[in-house]
Order: sequence, then structure tokens, then C-alpha cells
Amino acid sequence: MERIGIAIVGAGPAGLQAAITLSQLNYQPIVFEEHSVIGQPIQCGEGLSIQAFHDFSLEEDMDAFCVREFKKCKIMMSENKAVYGDVHAFSIRRDAFDQYLAKRATDMGVEILLSTKVTKVVRLSDGFQIITSGEKKKEYRCDMLIIAEGYKAKIARDLNFPQPTPLIKALEYKVEGEWRDDLEFYFDAKKYPSGYCWIFPRKGETNVGIATTAKDRKKRLDDFLKEKEITGSIMNKIGGQIPMNGPINKLYDTGVIVVGDTAGMVNPIFYGGIRLAMTSGEIAGKIVAHYMNSLNDNSRYNLSNYHKTLKKYQFMKKVNLKCHLFFYSRSNEYLEKLSMILEGKYINRIEKWEKIKVIGKILKCPILLRHPLGLYWIYRGFKIARDWGF
Ligand SMILES: Cc1cc2nc3c(=O)[nH]c(=O)nc-3n(C[C@H](O)[C@H](O)[C@H](O)COP(=O)(O)OP(=O)(O)OC[C@H]3O[C@@H](n4cnc5c(N)ncnc54)[C@H](O)[C@@H]3O)c2cc1C
Repeated sequence: MERIGIAIVGAGPAGLQAAITLSQLNYQPIVFEEHSVIGQPIQCGEGLSIQAFHDFSLEEDMDAFCVREFKKCKIMMSENKAVYGDVHAFSIRRDAFDQYLAKRATDMGVEILLSTKVTKVVRLSDGFQIITSGEKKKEYRCDMLIIAEGYKAKIARDLNFPQPTPLIKALEYKVEGEWRDDLEFYFDAKKYPSGYCWIFPRKGETNVGIATTAKDRKKRLDDFLKEKEITGSIMNKIGGQIPMNGPINKLYDTGVIVVGDTAGMVNPIFYGGIRLAMTSGEIAGKIVAHYMNSLNDNSRYNLSNYHKTLKKYQFMKKVNLKCHLFFYSRSNEYLEKLSMILEGKYINRIEKWEKIKVIGKILKCPILLRHPLGLYWIYRGFKIARDWGF
């Protein structure tokens, strides 16, 4: 059995960022990735906010994976009243993005084992036994484990972590042609329950997708395309699942940490998770390096610091889930009234006098007044989603 220090399961943004951070702190983890090509198959709308570029100093190399820049988004909660979102985001090539992160990691000495699926992890008295299948079928023994395997969380569940449920299913078409100028989000309580449809224009093509708990997603997405008169030929179809309710309660155990989708690190309003995956990966990397140092000098650093550090971030706040539960259980009548009041405004940038005017209008609207706290959750949740939504 080959002995290694730190093992990371999964080479998505969470696992790769954990590996980059560890190598910056002089640890060289081994990353196990079941696929033969990093970042493929793509399961993503490929939207990413500017904050991720700032956090991880990605600005210099943006040309390698950025396709198009956006300074605002359009949010449709009724047929004809547009509300806006104050976002600064990019459409990216998701496979190129993940490959860029992988190159950053390998340039610093991280080993990524491709076509190597971790099939089983067994807890030992002083670490873990890792069993892999695929090209490099082998057994390893590691001291510390970071699980970044995405939403399925199979290895995590074997080690008694909960799966980040419920999951929402998403389906997306890559359509030929640029069908819009801005990022667009369409909410409709009947057509897209618990989710929305999106239109993300790119260069020469547009990603059009749906995330919903409704079973007949394909029909609903096809209807959406017809309704929006998006008639370009469909060049590719992708699908996937996304944790809906935000971070799980158990984020670490002796010698093991969960990050990214495995830990439910997804914004529960727009269901974006790349920035959260990288942030949780970075924090995990720092905490694990500290923990490994403490094993050497017996200073007893505790992995609970992972949860303590994460708790300071806005995406961990309970208000995100409250916003999700409240917003996605509203009727179309409610969404229509909200759009009437917010029409033309930026939902995440209502300040000072504008706020007073909006409150004045709400006071005259019984359906909105029924749950004043719910309106506050929507306001807070969408404000946080500007930075942590995707
Ligand atoms: C249709 C769709 C659209 C989305 N659109 C957006 C968007 O526009 N913006 C955004 O921010 N987020 C979006 N998301 C969410 C985003 O893709 C995820 O939150 C993000 O990829 C999570 O990163 P991760 O590293 O945690 O997991 P993943 O990216 O899922 O990476 C996990 C990796 O682990 C590997 N793996 C799994 N099991 C094993 C194993 N046993 N052994 C070895 N390797 C293993 C997988 O092959 C994979 O490479 C979307 C999701 C879907 C499904």
C-alpha cells in the first residue's frame, strides 16, 4: 500500500483549489480524479462572478477561459416587468477553467491521478485506506483526506457525512447564435417550481437552461425556447444535479474535511457553486496545512477551525436558506406584485430614499404585507447572491 500524506478526492474547483492552497503552504497532496480529462464532461451554466477572479488572483489569465463579460443581469418574475441584478460576471469555458486550476496545481508540484476513481475509503486507527479502480488501480494509505467529489458524496456518505440533499435537477442546451445581450433569469412558480430558466449569451452561442424540481424538465425547457423565440440549432445538451439547501451541518470529522458540492456549498437562490467550492477548498487547504503542522509539533490544532472560519462568510448565513424556502414557495401572483414594485430597479441595490419609496408601495400591497419578514429574507438573500450566487 503506497503511503501518502494528504489525499484529495475529486479534481473540480473545490479539490483543485484545496490542492493549490496546500502546495502554497508547502504540502503536496495527491488528487484522485475519475475522468481522463479535467473539467469534462461539462455540467455547468458557465457563469462566474468577478469576485472569484479577485479572490483567487485570476485576472491576469482571464483570456484562457473567459468568453464574455456582463455588468448586470435581468430578472424576470412576471411576463413583462424586468427587475435587474447588480452583478459583474463572466461566461467562462468551464473545462478550460478547471484545466487552468489543474495546471496551477501541477506547476506547484501537486500530482493529479487522472482516470483514477476512488471506490472505497476505510478509516484506520491513524488515517485512511484508499482503494481506487481504473487505469491506476491501487491501494493507498493517507493521513488526511479532503473529499471534493461533487454532489453525489458517495465516499463522504461512506464516512458518515450526510449527502447534501435535496438536489435539484438541471438541463442545459448550447444553442447556436447570441440570443441576448445580458444574463437573464426567468422565475415562474408554476412553470419552473423551485428554480428558474436562464439565458447566458456567449460568443456565437448561448447557454439556455432550466433548474427545477418539476419532472418534465426537457418539455419545459423546449417550451421556454419556443416562448423566447430562441430558434438556433442545439449544438450540445448537458445535465446535472445541484444541492438546493446550502451547506450541510457536518463539515469535518477526525482526519477528514468535505468541500464544495459535497458539503452543499452552493448558493440556494441561483444554485451557483464555483466560487463557494473554491472558497471552501481554499479554507480547507489552510486548515489542513495547520493541522498537519500540529501533528508534527504536537500543538493539537483542531479541524473544527474549518467550520469556525467558514461561519464568518455570508454564504454560510441561515438567511440564504430562509430566502430560498420563502421565495421558492411564493405564488405567481406574489411574484407579479413584487415585480410591479421593483420594476426597473436593481433588486440587490435598493438604498436610502429608494428603499423608503419601495416600503411605501409595499404598505399598499396586502399580499406582500402578509409576510414582512419574508420580504426581508428576499432582500438579504438576493444581496448575498450578488456576490456568492455564481
Ligand atoms: C447544469 C448545471 C449548471 C450549473 N451552472 C453553474 C454556473 O453557471 N455557475 C456556478 O457557479 N455554478 C454552476 N453550477 C454548479 C457548479 O457546477 C458546482 O457547484 C461546482 O462544479 C462544484 O465544484 P466541486 O469541485 O465541488 O464539484 P465538481 O465540479 O462536481 O467536481 C467533482 C470532481 O470529483 C470527481 N469525482 C467524483 N467522484 C469521484 C471519485 N469517487 N473518485 C475520483 N474522482 C471523483 C468528478 O469527476 C469531478 O471532477 C451548475 C451545476 C449544474 C449541474
